[in-house]
Amino acid sequence: MYCTNCGKEMNENQAICLNCGVKTGDGNAFCQNCGNAVAPNAAVCLSCGVAIKKTSSVGVEGELGGQNKLMIALVCFFLGGIGIHNFIMGENKKGIFKIIMSFVCGIGGILALIDFIKILIGKYVVDPTKLI
Ligand SMILES: [Zn+2]
Ligand SMILES: [Zn+2]
Repeated sequence: MYCTNCGKEMNENQAICLNCGVKTGDGNAFCQNCGNAVAPNAAVCLSCGVAIKKTSSVGVEGELGGQNKLMIALVCFFLGGIGIHNFIMGENKKGIFKIIMSFVCGIGGILALIDFIKILIGKYVVDPTKLI
């Protein structure tokens, strides 16, 4: 397989590309199957015809910013009142909003509880337009 970010050949079980340092599966500039350059939004590689995997980079809608669900849920439960889970998912504006809400009127914890439930039932959606 090839790095989808820089196109260098890499091992099947490598977690990170040793050439560019990008996580396996991140980046969409090269075909994972043949290593040829592909258009960023192409669905299929024009060189080998293999379907191109969608990347899981930060800010992908509905995927908790590409973060692990359990990790985000735990962070939200323990540190959600000051928006730490929002910062991890790249939602800096929401995180800052929660900090202000916690200090001004103490409802940061309630907002975090709502987020926590949404994360658990898979309804939490990271809005790419609200990322900084
Ligand atoms: Zn690479
Ligand atoms: Zn290809």
